Amino acid sequence: MNHDTICALATANGIGAIGIIRISGDDAISVSAKIFEGKNLEKAPSHTVHYGFIKDGEEVIDEVMISVFKAPKTFTAEDSVEISFHGSPHIAKRILEVLIKNGARMAKAGEFTMRAFMNGRIDLSQAESIADLIASENEASRKVALNQLKGGITNEISFLRTDLLNFVSLIELELDFAEEDVEFADRTALNQLLDKIEAKLNSLIESFQYGNAIKNGTAVAIIGKPNAGKSTLLNALLKEERAIVSNIAGTTRDTIEEILHIKGHAFRLIDTAGLRETADEIEAIGVKKAKEKVENANILVYLADSATKDFSEDIEMIKSLQRDDLKLIICATKIDEVSPAQYELVENIFRKEISQDFDFITISAVENQNMQDLKDELSSYVEQLKSEESNVIITNQRHFEALRKSLEAVNKVKEAITFQISTELLAYELRNALEHLGEISGEVTNDEVLGNIFSKFCIGK
Ligand code: GDP
Repeated sequence: MNHDTICALATANGIGAIGIIRISGDDAISVSAKIFEGKNLEKAPSHTVHYGFIKDGEEVIDEVMISVFKAPKTFTAEDSVEISFHGSPHIAKRILEVLIKNGARMAKAGEFTMRAFMNGRIDLSQAESIADLIASENEASRKVALNQLKGGITNEISFLRTDLLNFVSLIELELDFAEEDVEFADRTALNQLLDKIEAKLNSLIESFQYGNAIKNGTAVAIIGKPNAGKSTLLNALLKEERAIVSNIAGTTRDTIEEILHIKGHAFRLIDTAGLRETADEIEAIGVKKAKEKVENANILVYLADSATKDFSEDIEMIKSLQRDDLKLIICATKIDEVSPAQYELVENIFRKEISQDFDFITISAVENQNMQDLKDELSSYVEQLKSEESNVIITNQRHFEALRKSLEAVNKVKEAITFQISTELLAYELRNALEHLGEISGEVTNDEVLGNIFSKFCIGK
């Protein structure tokens, strides 16, 4: 195992009250001791903090606090040191330079976490959950990542794996006694176990839809004819969020998405750039453009002006955008301008013409009426994705793929039993299933997968 000493800035790169540099490896303490004026760190007990100065030769660089952590009870399970300095990027650079001059090297992205994994402190899904925790932007994603850090997924998987492993041993024993034609592994019991595993895998796989909503947010498209009230609604929705609203560049196209948080879940309002800017400059949105917007959406909020007499264009537009996996919310807007009888009429028109199931809401963005109904509808979409059966939620694409492959392999084993295929082949299929299950926790892994996972971390993590 490579225990060379690595260092990196652990806090965000920028000005702050305090910055922290982290050092880990066999020489972490001796290298730090060489550049520290204060207590002799090599004699310091584990998990203690010391006041002093970082020096480059005779020159004092900064006044610092140094924490000493001795293996194995550290994040990486190696000797580790943390230097808290006055949070200037320049000071960080100087301290890192002195550390490198004295025998440490710059850490690669994710290298601290990778060491924690390599040294058996955490499994792979826990390492990934650390990246998720750092990236979490809302309550739901924070909770799921934390649950995973505590070993949630691995617990579920390892219990399945152990049971399966027992059967593999029995089947392989049969191979050893092939000439005697004995069956150590009770096929009925194996089948029952496979059914159980299949059900578990299915419920974990199903949870991915909810997991995805938690991790990446739910995509919402707001569509309607010019003047329907789209930008007014958008502004009203985002008004309370203004302080925490973030603009993120869309990953697939150069669009701006705005994030709305409802009950701890994130909703990504798709391509709202135009809406915010062109409040009075009316620009007709064609079906083609609308289709593009809705393509990646989970929810379509269609706005129709309650005062309109003719809804045929709206109906046509909705019909052309409908999709089975797209939740449709039709919103009659500007209800402060019309009587209840009018918006009842509007609802009837849509109910008659639109065959797909949809929710109908009446709102006034200007008078702030029923805005909560809309938020509740959005939020109920995410709630109903929650699986009743599994309290572990899959949020990671890699886990999802591994679960799907495991399920495929389990089905092949079941087929093998049904068709009474040779014991050799059965053993092969069982091993295959075991392997895919092991990929999640990292019990079975390869360098390429590892490199891929850890390279996505930031340096210093
Ligand atoms: P967009 O073209 O769909 O973005 O529509 P706008 O949001 O720009 O609204 C068009 C017009 O309708 C503006 O004059 C708004 O002030 C008005 N409007 C929007 N929502 C409401 C509402 O709830 N009540 C009333 N009375 N007027 C509204």
